[in-house]
Amino acid sequence: MERPLRVAVVGAGPAGIYAAEALAGQDDVPVTVDLLDRLPTPFGLVRHGIAPDHTKMRALADTLRHTLDHPGVRFVGDVEVGRDLSVADLRAHCDAVVFTHGASGARRLGIEGEDLPGSLAATDVVAWYTGHPDADRARVEAALARARDVVLVGVGNVALDVARVLARCPAELEQTDMPQHVLDVLAAAPVERITLLGRRGPAQATFTTQELRELGHLSAAVALTDPDGLDEESEVRAVARNLAALREFAEHVPEAGKASVRLRFFARPVRLCGDERVTGVVVERTAVDPADRLSGTRETEVLPADLVVAAIGYQGHDLPGLAVEGGTVPNEGGRVLRDGAVSPGEYVAGWIKRGPTGVVGTNKHDARETVAALLADSPTLPRVEGADLVDTLRARGRRPVLLENWRAIDDAEHALGATRGRARTTIHDRDALRAHAHGAQR
Ligand code: NAP
Repeated sequence: MERPLRVAVVGAGPAGIYAAEALAGQDDVPVTVDLLDRLPTPFGLVRHGIAPDHTKMRALADTLRHTLDHPGVRFVGDVEVGRDLSVADLRAHCDAVVFTHGASGARRLGIEGEDLPGSLAATDVVAWYTGHPDADRARVEAALARARDVVLVGVGNVALDVARVLARCPAELEQTDMPQHVLDVLAAAPVERITLLGRRGPAQATFTTQELRELGHLSAAVALTDPDGLDEESEVRAVARNLAALREFAEHVPEAGKASVRLRFFARPVRLCGDERVTGVVVERTAVDPADRLSGTRETEVLPADLVVAAIGYQGHDLPGLAVEGGTVPNEGGRVLRDGAVSPGEYVAGWIKRGPTGVVGTNKHDARETVAALLADSPTLPRVEGADLVDTLRARGRRPVLLENWRAIDDAEHALGATRGRARTTIHDRDALRAHAHGAQR
């Protein structure tokens, strides 16, 4: 009897897990799935993206983990395509490969001063506060140590996440799974004023109303905005709800002893000032025409800033052997295109397929579309002769983190959390994660 179709899924974030679920959860084509991740831990942006104070959303990991327990799915963590395995290796070992490695890069502002100390990308800050092993702790912590005036560029949900986490008081963060050093640095950060800059008007902001309203309920900060553009009527319900929430913010006044979070629209940064580090942002007032197009007015002012965070979107990048164009891998409904033609046996799902938009659940539909294409193609996909992927990795001296190893990390994170009365605490250090995974610290 022919063996099951062997599929590798590259990236164990939501898109990868939903793809594995769709593959393992059907009966038409017998399939085994190797779910690879470059981190020793699964869940991608559910672990290292969703803000730690959004505990209910982070609990999505409890649902996603059921897929890891499926007998047809094997989690293979701490394996990096391009370092431990090439795309050609994957093709030699598996009948089909689904790339779901996301868009982990940060878009750049492209303005003078962007590389000064004190200027960060939101991806740097998010990686740090979620305990990502690759976070640049020294850079982020040095910037936060003197962050009294913070300017956030962008008015999407990531900007709101960063603003909220910086504006929360220690008691509000106490029960999160953030590493202790993160809680300590946030508690000591002198944040007084946070300004978010939207380059277009309030009606064009990309944040969602629930996340916006949350800013109005912080115990240690007041949400403020200017009335500019708030009298607009919109027939789009989400926009009308945002405008209504912002009108409430426009009624708020600063309160002594509380930080402020001010949303400013029609404002774009044109230069970051400072010699050795950021001291301010030159902001230009903008105008938006009826087609939502933006233009500068040349009217500028300087906002003081000790920390500038660009929350202007994520960017997909090449994997060695798989190029992106404009941030995504060219594809047709999930089938990878190389030189304009479908490349048999190669698929994409998630942000690397469609770009960095949508909520976690968007990836479910997206992954199902890709898996439907793969299953439809399966009769024509040649079965490879290659060895087992994990055997090959071990033969190359790698120690992949399998499900039981991940469970040991999971236990260690619960135990670490319990030492301070928390449900769990994220272990951020890669060597510590590996040591727990492979038994050295159990
Ligand atoms: P986003 O929603 O695309 O927001 C990016 C923001 O940056 C926009 O305000 C954009 O303005 C602005 N921007 C882009 N380039 C700029 C530039 N050069 N100068 C000034 N401003 C610039 O992206 P995101 O916030 O990174 O979020 C990514 C995805 O994850 C979104 O789909 C988001 O909803 C989702 N997410 C959801 C949650 C949640 O559900 N709680 C949390 C986090 C993220 P323009 O509109 O003018 O381009």
